[in-house]
Amino acid sequence: MNMKLSFSRFDLKLKHTFTISRSSRDSATVVFVELEHDGIIGVGEAAPSRRYGEDIETVEAFLKKVDLSEFQDPFQIENILKYVEILVQGNYAAKAAIDLALHDWIGKKLNLPLHKYWGLDKSQTPLTSFTIGIDTPEVIEKKIREAEEYPILKIKLGGDNDKEILRTIRKVTKKTLRVDANEGWKTKELAVEKINWLEQEGVEFIEQPMPAADLAGTSWVRERVSLPLIADENSIRLFDVPKLQGVFDGINIKLMKCTGLREAIQMVHAARACGLKIMTGCMIESSVAISAAAQFSPLIDYADLDGHVLTSNDPYDGVTIVNGKLILPERPGIGAVKRD
Ligand SMILES: [Mg+2]
Repeated sequence: MNMKLSFSRFDLKLKHTFTISRSSRDSATVVFVELEHDGIIGVGEAAPSRRYGEDIETVEAFLKKVDLSEFQDPFQIENILKYVEILVQGNYAAKAAIDLALHDWIGKKLNLPLHKYWGLDKSQTPLTSFTIGIDTPEVIEKKIREAEEYPILKIKLGGDNDKEILRTIRKVTKKTLRVDANEGWKTKELAVEKINWLEQEGVEFIEQPMPAADLAGTSWVRERVSLPLIADENSIRLFDVPKLQGVFDGINIKLMKCTGLREAIQMVHAARACGLKIMTGCMIESSVAISAAAQFSPLIDYADLDGHVLTSNDPYDGVTIVNGKLILPERPGIGAVKRD
């Protein structure tokens, strides 16, 4: 019997308007994928990002093209994902949805949570940061109070009001801060000035200070600052990893950029071979994609897996967070189940 693939879109509503250096939003539409075979349904999710050339229409157009009739079952995941990869170039999030559904199906078939299948210890999941978007001082204060249980905050900078945002945050909390500039500091001189200032403010590391297109500029910055730099917009696929050695100190792996769990784990090993630290982040996603990323999180150094917490209508239940620590469920596969 053939594998049956179906998909449907879903509007994730945000608790607060979420603003970063290049955009602002109140909701995020994702596509859920169900892969049915042998009475078992594997679930996946695509959370497309325009930064990487995808939107809801491109995801659906890609998924319509996928024809798995020549494959026997999801255990042929290596060949299936090779086929998916060459079907159309790009389409990272759409490809991730298929990869997640295949992994979820395999875990459910074997009755094993993915972390166990990979031989990982669930007690070794890292703490996740909680992200505070760019906002007015009043809203930022409110968000920080709501994030009380999280020991680490990630703040979005890269605009004209960086100083004001940081002053507001430091008025309310002394917590560890991680800064994501989302390519917002456009010149290397400005980036060095900002990073050296942030070091004084007790920031742990800086994510993507400069535009991804300016790798030479980032390299120049790297020689003039001591805070670690983590690549996000520069770290998309496996083949990006070796290029970042010596320019960045670590990479941010996101399932929606790297086409899913299979390549995410390859990136983990490539990054280790290059002496790079590993962070795992997310888009605005439901508990399906967040739980999938949490399954391999015992392998990583820094987690930023709060996308589902920022939403108010997550249709799934999965990984939970207790005082910032990711708690993996015992359920098989990705470990996400539909809420009643
Ligand atoms: Mg980032």
